[in-house]
Amino acid sequence: MRLSQMLFVTLREDPAEAEIPSHKLLLRAGYIRRIASGVYAYLPLLWRVLTKVSKIVREEMDATGAQECLLPQLQPAELWKESGRWDTYTKAEGIMFAFIDRREQQVALGPTHEEVITTIARDMIRSYRQLPLHLYQIQTKFRDEIRPRFGLMRGREFIMKDGYSFHPDHASLKATYDDMYRAYTNMLRRSGLDFRAVEADSGAIGGSGSHEFMVLAEAGEDEVLYTDDGQYAANVEKAVSLPPEAEPSRFDTCKQLDTPNTPTIQSLCDFLDCSPSQIVKNVLYQVTYDNERSVLVLVSIRGDQDVNEVKLQNQLTRQASDYGGSTVIDLTVPDAEAQQQWATKPLPLGYIAPDLADDYIAPKSAVAPKFLRLADPTVVELKNFVTGSNQSGHHVVGANWGDTFRLPEQVVDLRKAIAGDRAQHDPSQLIRSARGIEIGHIFQLGTKYSQALGATYTSEQGEDNPLFMGCYGVGVSRLAQAAVEQSYDKNGIIWPVAIAPYHAIVVIPNIGDAQQTEAAETLYQELNAAGVETLLDDRDERAGVKFKDAELIGIPFRIVTGRSLKSGKVEVTQRASGETEDIVLEDVVEVIKRWVLEATSP
Ligand code: ATP
Ligand code: MG
Repeated sequence: MRLSQMLFVTLREDPAEAEIPSHKLLLRAGYIRRIASGVYAYLPLLWRVLTKVSKIVREEMDATGAQECLLPQLQPAELWKESGRWDTYTKAEGIMFAFIDRREQQVALGPTHEEVITTIARDMIRSYRQLPLHLYQIQTKFRDEIRPRFGLMRGREFIMKDGYSFHPDHASLKATYDDMYRAYTNMLRRSGLDFRAVEADSGAIGGSGSHEFMVLAEAGEDEVLYTDDGQYAANVEKAVSLPPEAEPSRFDTCKQLDTPNTPTIQSLCDFLDCSPSQIVKNVLYQVTYDNERSVLVLVSIRGDQDVNEVKLQNQLTRQASDYGGSTVIDLTVPDAEAQQQWATKPLPLGYIAPDLADDYIAPKSAVAPKFLRLADPTVVELKNFVTGSNQSGHHVVGANWGDTFRLPEQVVDLRKAIAGDRAQHDPSQLIRSARGIEIGHIFQLGTKYSQALGATYTSEQGEDNPLFMGCYGVGVSRLAQAAVEQSYDKNGIIWPVAIAPYHAIVVIPNIGDAQQTEAAETLYQELNAAGVETLLDDRDERAGVKFKDAELIGIPFRIVTGRSLKSGKVEVTQRASGETEDIVLEDVVEVIKRWVLEATSP
């Protein structure tokens, strides 16, 4: 392609709307254009990048035996009501664009496709002989994100590859899941990304059923915890670790003390001159289920530790049926206004004990009459601990489970792992933290959707069983931007060769010079003919402008038909290393062709 004929507009200044380097660079270099919040036009250069990413994705998916299809973006509400997700997606999370069509029917734009694909499976899969089956698509997804930002990183319209597999049992699902783990590893490696596969939260299902593929970068919205020995990496939402040892308590008799103005752990530690690890703190939450029933939850956890609300939400989802619900709609620390809805008297906030009486809860059908009491394992072994007394301005010290308070029946890991903790697999390894951009997510869904939608198959023994499912997503447009976030310098983008829009750019320093132009034209033709995707900068611009633009747009190999032509050579510069060498005209095509092949072979 000739630059003189392209829509080629670059900006010298950073656009005000962009915060992170990759977003600024993609705008400046003319790859994308913002149309509305979280909505971007993919201009021709970016479209080539996206096409290359998609090609790698397709090759890796097809190699596993998965089949490509294209599912509708317009989805009827009924399917989402059947799966029980309509309210969560339109109201609670509100992430789905939903509207009413001219037939007065509710419809939505697909944020994801479990409902659609499960409906197809329900209709078309009859027998175990048809299994396993894996369908995928590459398509625009719509999500009304609360905070669209960072350009393509979090858009409201973006391109995703999503795949769904169907199995007769868990073993078959696990085999495909392992294939996907390898396929995803290949996709990201081939795209030139530096990434880590991390254990991810898999909602209430739990287990080791989910991995995220993270590109480590400061701009990442996720936090990854890992160990240096490479044995452990997990999203902070899911991460586990060993907490530091608790300090021995300095209180050996149980008594209530006046502790005025000590509603926080810090103020209490200062007042009593004790360690936060000697304290049992009791945190109050309010969960609301999809049947609009609320439950007040009291979590007892060590004073120096924090509650991981994702783990808490998963636990509460697992207990939903105890309260007649199926999913969690809302989980909050109830504020004064929320407390007024159910509290019979003012709560001793900041001084709550594990045995806070149930009669604080007014008898109302919408609120469960008893606190749900959960203890994190960190409090179980504590001796002579400090905790609230249910009376403002007073704490109990020297308390013990069994004597002073009853240990809650349910002990569940609800603790947030943090950097500096010791690793469970090897306590000599310390947990470290890094920011990550989630590029892909693979997930063992089990029978969640097949049961909700009644998708079954007939087994070899003639039984009707629900299908086991897996789902696998990769953000194609997010991947493209993450590649930039990981690879740029002060002069612009440095594309990995495999996904660069073009491999090479031939620059004519002065188009008025016939010799320069002729040599460039010939190279341009020959390179393209040899399969090296090449741009020709034949614009009537100063050489300096052309060099700057070539660097900004990040083309891996730049060839300049300049001064060295006199000695039958051209100047070739590699964008990544900045190295320049003069190469004999006759050899250039072969050399660059070889470089491209080396960098793009799977
Ligand atoms: P996130 O936690 O970042 O919101 P998610 O868990 O909602 O992502 P999935 O539903 O697993 O994402 O989607 C699969 C992939 O699609 C993600 O790994 C990510 O690469 C991409 N993706 C998700 N949301 C967006 C978005 N708003 N903009 C661009 N890409 C996205
Ligand atoms: Mg995710």
